[in-house]
Amino acid sequence: MPRDATPTALKVHHDHDRCIADALAAAAEVCRELGARFTPLRRRVLEIVWQSHKPLGAYGILDVLAAEGRRPMPPTVYRALDFLVAKGLVHRIPSLNAFIGCTRPGRRHDGQYLICHNCGTVAELTDEGLNTALGKAARGHGFAVESVLTEAVGLCPACAERRKTAS
Ligand SMILES: [Zn+2]
Ligand SMILES: [Zn+2]
Ligand SMILES: [Zn+2]
Repeated sequence: MPRDATPTALKVHHDHDRCIADALAAAAEVCRELGARFTPLRRRVLEIVWQSHKPLGAYGILDVLAAEGRRPMPPTVYRALDFLVAKGLVHRIPSLNAFIGCTRPGRRHDGQYLICHNCGTVAELTDEGLNTALGKAARGHGFAVESVLTEAVGLCPACAERRKTAS
């Protein structure tokens, strides 16, 4: 994805099956490169996180697995999530205590999340310029930034559109 491309999460009409397929393929590739095992549970947890562009909490993931008749022990699922987060395949959104799939796995980046307060969609931006600007501003005050996490709350294009047609 070119740097200036709109995140898929913000595209009203997009083929989400494609998002899932791309994410699983990218994850398999990242695991292979890192020599890590992409176990069926890790794969399934990632797929569940990717079921939409709305973040899902650990309980939500356990619920989906339980509904499938699998009842893995919560620690097993937490470990799978920890693995996915550690390998950069999934991000945890602190303010929501929930997880979303990374759209650019395999590449170190500090997250910038656009959170829609209406539908819950979260889009990830990876704009290096924003973090560089913040790092520079902080350095001006003698502070060395090591990681940045940006959360912006607002209205996604789909919700903004709906609001416009409703009024
Ligand atoms: Zn999608
Ligand atoms: Zn990411
Ligand atoms: Zn929305």
